[in-house]
Amino acid sequence: MKKELIRFLLFTCIVTLFLGVCFTSADFFAIPVAGVKDFLVVAAQWAMVMVALFLLCVGLASFRGLFAIGLPLLTLASATLAWFRWTLNATLTPMILDAALENDWRTSGDLISVGLVGGLFLSLWVAGGLVYYRWRKITLRRPLLPFVCGVVGLVGLMQVFALRRPISERIPFTLYFSTVRYWQEKQIAQEERIDLTAGAHCEEEELTVVVVLGESVRPDHLGLNGYSRNTTPRLAKEEALVSFPAIYTEQTYTNRSIPHLLTRADSSDYERAYTEQSFISLFRACDYYTVWLANQEAANTYVYFMNECDSLFHVNIDKSSYVFDRWVDGDLLPLLDEALRVERPRKLIVLHTIGSHWWYNSHFTDDYAQFQPIVKSKVISSCTQEEMINSYDNTILYTDYFLSEVINRLRDRKAVLLYQSDHGEALGEEGVWLHAAETPYTHQAAGFVWLSPAYEQAHPSRLAILRGNASRPYRTDYLFHSVLDAGGIQSPYFDASLSVWRSNEGI
Ligand SMILES: [Zn+2]
Repeated sequence: MKKELIRFLLFTCIVTLFLGVCFTSADFFAIPVAGVKDFLVVAAQWAMVMVALFLLCVGLASFRGLFAIGLPLLTLASATLAWFRWTLNATLTPMILDAALENDWRTSGDLISVGLVGGLFLSLWVAGGLVYYRWRKITLRRPLLPFVCGVVGLVGLMQVFALRRPISERIPFTLYFSTVRYWQEKQIAQEERIDLTAGAHCEEEELTVVVVLGESVRPDHLGLNGYSRNTTPRLAKEEALVSFPAIYTEQTYTNRSIPHLLTRADSSDYERAYTEQSFISLFRACDYYTVWLANQEAANTYVYFMNECDSLFHVNIDKSSYVFDRWVDGDLLPLLDEALRVERPRKLIVLHTIGSHWWYNSHFTDDYAQFQPIVKSKVISSCTQEEMINSYDNTILYTDYFLSEVINRLRDRKAVLLYQSDHGEALGEEGVWLHAAETPYTHQAAGFVWLSPAYEQAHPSRLAILRGNASRPYRTDYLFHSVLDAGGIQSPYFDASLSVWRSNEGI
């Protein structure tokens, strides 16, 4: 019996080392070390995760049937996570899970490569060998005891507060814990929403408010913010446009950012993004015609807000990860024209754009492929930084065209436009690409306000106040209150200190 157990534990150690060295180690190589001491600290952290992994493997290997199913699945998941950690420096978060499961198969599909498929086959081949060995060569007459010890030991270890996070955010444990967080967030998103319309009233007789939700546009790549390339030649000519180059977004992924932008959610109370209605309901309560024009598909986290509108229209619903043709925001313009023709004196139009989303080349037309060479491969690791930035800047150039077309349609009306990108984008800094990852570049989001001559005439002091506030740092919390203020909506929930339209001297 004793010999049998020792043999089992030795086998489990080999399985642990297979998973730990081949996959979990991917989470540790990116940690910068400045000497032997640092290296030992990192090695100790890795060893701690190995203890948890060993307990998991003891539980899994105690029954050979469980092992035959569990190890290949665990290997597949771990190898996939490790591949993206190696190639994109990406770690699994609920946001990335959301993209993979719900919203963004485009991105997910683009990440599949020959290297990934080959790595998965090789990993499965090794796992198959271990399953065979366990089935044929390891005998365990009392499997329940190691099973209980493994499970209880692992659950007990995860109760230690100091160990919980370092383990739960590493391969393979991140798979389970990110999934749990993802489902918890889903539950919150489906709850009843708090109505904030009580006491709301509007001072404007006639007005068109346009809110453009941008995508992945970082402020330092806009010519009008001083970028060395002239990526915004049209917008830069607009006299009544005020850019806010220092807007910080808490959220770095569309599904989490949009609810934050549209509601009273702020960094101290993000729950509001999941419990309260957005500013759209306040506009509706004040007899605005409200419409959402979407060039991005709905996601569970913000589909509620899309349906707060009187009308909802989509373009490009046929686009998928396997269709690489054009997918541009200019397709929204005919819908915008329709919305502007609706005979209601007050209108709120929300445009949800595809902007600068990866795969960049789909989101600008040939006329705007000004910066060359552009990316040629959908596998990010095969692209150079120069190509990535060129393609990205071409999307900005196209956005400049699109927004100037929107402005041209508003110029002769009493109208105001607020543009806010949902988050920024990492362009290879420290080896990180795209968004959802934690970098300073994903937290910076471009934003600006434009007013028509008729609006400026009706509110003569407002442009000067905007200009006075332009250099102030804002969080995206500003948007809810600034949109209400732009629309002349009074509400007990309005906070003047967060509005870009108010002079905040002394606040
Ligand atoms: Zn986004």
